[in-house]
Amino acid sequence: MTIRVGQGVDVHPFKEGRELVLGGVRIPHDRGLDGHSDADAVIHALCDALLGTLALGDIGRHFPPSDPRYRGKDSRFFLREVTALVRAKGYRPHQVDVTILAERPRISPHVPAMVAELSACMGLDASDISIKATTTERMGFTGREEGIAVWAVATVRPSEGA
Ligand code: MG
Repeated sequence: MTIRVGQGVDVHPFKEGRELVLGGVRIPHDRGLDGHSDADAVIHALCDALLGTLALGDIGRHFPPSDPRYRGKDSRFFLREVTALVRAKGYRPHQVDVTILAERPRISPHVPAMVAELSACMGLDASDISIKATTTERMGFTGREEGIAVWAVATVRPSEGA
């Protein structure tokens, strides 16, 4: 069985008056992430990782921020579309591992809800979805709470019969 590996990174700055959405889940916080869509950095990093498995470019190429259709868009749409692109190439998501870099808020209480959302978007069993979070010990832009960074790794495998 051929397993292919991709990685993705995304960063968004905090902005007052925005809702914080990570992994398809609204997380109570005093600020949200700024961006053209809902700025869900978890899903954006994951989309880039999945696209990377098959050298399909990046999320900006498939869903340009200049396109008004994606303004304020629920990023779960992008993950469903990227999963469809992977499947159209004869592959399917196999396993993903995501690391969120954030000083605040605490991420761990929201991980089960995020796993459920990502599971639904990718058609992937929850046991194949890993989401972890770490602070950066108050160092750097994440440590100063200027924004959140996310790293993701994804593997895909050939679909049955492909
Ligand atoms: Mg992004």
